[in-house]
Amino acid sequence: MILGYVSCLPETKLMAKFVEELKNERLMGTRCRKCGAKYLPPRAHCKCGSADVEWFEASRQGKILTYTSVGFPPQSMSKHKSYIVAIAELQDGSKLLAQLTGVSLKMLRVGMPVQVVSRPVSTDKIVYELKPMDVMEI
Ligand SMILES: [Zn+2]
Repeated sequence: MILGYVSCLPETKLMAKFVEELKNERLMGTRCRKCGAKYLPPRAHCKCGSADVEWFEASRQGKILTYTSVGFPPQSMSKHKSYIVAIAELQDGSKLLAQLTGVSLKMLRVGMPVQVVSRPVSTDKIVYELKPMDVMEI
């Protein structure tokens, strides 16, 4: 199974584990043992130059830090007329860039509580998205 509608990430052992855990509703990233930086999706090398990284399980809840609307989607997302991309700060302090669904631009606010959800989009592809918390409770 690969990540995304069209994956731009290399199919490494790190990504294979990330996707496998995502299927089990666990959001796994890597943390640098030298400087503590966290990466979602996982990376094998840190921006500080260290390759000494370990797995951590990220929180699936957080809040919107910033967002934008994509009005002219790339071909891989052309079935979505326009869509919202947001960066969420999760409760463990890590940050995640993802498509935001379940809310209109009019209702969207910085600081809005969101949850990370994953779902298969075909037999061999899985995506993760951000959704407002109140939508999750319906
Ligand atoms: Zn580092």
